[in-house]
Amino acid sequence: MIDMSERKSDWVVERYNYQHQVKGIRKQLFSALQNSLVAGKYILTDEVSVFEQELGHYVGSKHALGVNSGTDSLMLALTALSIGKGDEVITVANTFHATVLAILRTGAQPVLVDCEAQTYLMDINQVEAAISPRTKAIIVVHFCGKAVDMKPLLELADRYNLYIVEDACQAIGAKWQSRHVGSIGALGCFSFHPSKNLAAAGDAGAVVTSDLSVDRLLRKLRHFGQVEQNNHQLLGFNSKLDAIQALVLHYKLPFLDEWNVQRAKIAQDYRDRLAHLPLTFQTVDDKSSHVYHLFQIRTPVRDALLGYLRDKGIDAVIRYPVPIHLQPAFSQLEYKPGDFPVAEALAKECLCLPIRPDLTMKEVDYVVHMINEYFEKCEL
Ligand SMILES: *Cc1c(COP(=O)(O)O)cnc(C)c1O
Repeated sequence: MIDMSERKSDWVVERYNYQHQVKGIRKQLFSALQNSLVAGKYILTDEVSVFEQELGHYVGSKHALGVNSGTDSLMLALTALSIGKGDEVITVANTFHATVLAILRTGAQPVLVDCEAQTYLMDINQVEAAISPRTKAIIVVHFCGKAVDMKPLLELADRYNLYIVEDACQAIGAKWQSRHVGSIGALGCFSFHPSKNLAAAGDAGAVVTSDLSVDRLLRKLRHFGQVEQNNHQLLGFNSKLDAIQALVLHYKLPFLDEWNVQRAKIAQDYRDRLAHLPLTFQTVDDKSSHVYHLFQIRTPVRDALLGYLRDKGIDAVIRYPVPIHLQPAFSQLEYKPGDFPVAEALAKECLCLPIRPDLTMKEVDYVVHMINEYFEKCEL
């Protein structure tokens, strides 16, 4: 068992550990942050360009551009494709709120499709029927960190002349075939929200593209639509990655692959050690990799199991208990219960176990033990 006395919080197994994320880089990072704070240059500095280049190089896109958040990255991506009023954008019901919010904020109409029960990812077989003469783009979501099999989507997009925008906010580092998510569609969107696999110290995000003219347009859009001071040619945004956040990300990026490998190892451990229980998991395959932003388990007794685990000090949570199409904010879309049965079932039956790169064997043992205990005592 884990010794509670050495813990700072009430949790036995915590969801995040930011101390670990700066292990080994504390000195350099903290002094860089100090220097930046006193230098007084905070906006679109060299630190930002450096991180943008590193990110583009990492992802395999020619250009990367830092913005305020993942949500903004989606809004800017759609805007750069001239998507707005009168257009439709297809996406999946099983995603985080921001994917659909971004579509609506551009004035376009989101058109949802359900996800698959095995992969929890967009059911690509439903996409073709959702295409109309107004459809301009598909936002594909690499949900939980699992890369979508892009082949059928790329074929569809090609056939119907649609853009693919990748919502890779949960999946930085994941690959489809040998390509990084974000680099496959016309544009890729990333979030560096503190909960994500690559975490800034606040809100931050990025858009990547290999199209120079799109990159140029995005650079104007994020900066009030200006081409030079006081010359605003476009209706833009104010959405720029801060120098401080760029520094945090610059120091953490070199560790991302190692962290993602650790996440995948822990996920495999959970899968192996929980395999005998009446639980199911997001399936994996060798077409694409999974970086486990979330590790979800599915069970009809979700709420009871969650209560049990939280009582035992395990910071398990439900991600997205109300699916997109049933959120009051999106009532204008006029979807109703039953429209996307798989997304609805996942929203009722999934919970996320703690997963972090530094989760110890002891912590995994404890979580596995408590899940077993729940089923022994309460269910079987
Ligand atoms: C986190 C997330 C976003 C939004 O990112 P923010 O940085 O929080 O704005 C968008 N889509 C998905 C799938 C996400 O998980």
